[in-house]
Amino acid sequence: MKTKKDEDRCEITGLKRISCYHCQAPPEYEMKESTFEGSPIVEILYKGGPIHERDKNFRFGKNKAKLFLACMDIVEELASTPYGKLPDIKNQKVDDTVSGVTISVKVESFRDMELSSGRRINVPWVRLQSGKYPDLHIGFGRRKAKAILRLRRQLAEWAKYPLVNE
Ligand SMILES: [Zn+2]
Repeated sequence: MKTKKDEDRCEITGLKRISCYHCQAPPEYEMKESTFEGSPIVEILYKGGPIHERDKNFRFGKNKAKLFLACMDIVEELASTPYGKLPDIKNQKVDDTVSGVTISVKVESFRDMELSSGRRINVPWVRLQSGKYPDLHIGFGRRKAKAILRLRRQLAEWAKYPLVNE
């Protein structure tokens, strides 16, 4: 039988939860809600910090979240593309039947230098553009795609957007 004392201890490390490095570690991916100029936004964090060393603030509002959610197949494909490879994604139009908007998907790639080794690698980049609002677009690479894929249920709940294929 479990006593109260056992419950205060981590089942992985055996340390007290309050001082366990495992229990106290930030989650791999998390979304923090806040507001920007009066509108709700989320910031996506990786292990409690910025998701990318070159893009310290990965934050967006509900309309951009809906672009991601409507194109989750594309997000998933990019997220599962091996490092340094190009994704199997074509330029295309996606009908967002929930919002009644067509989204254009553009895939680009550029050659970049890997910081650690100086090796040249392919960096894929996907841009989602709303067919209705010219200012509504978002671009993302593999790392952001992984975060969005992992957080899709929370994002859908926050943006009040039904997830398809779940
Ligand atoms: Zn623990």
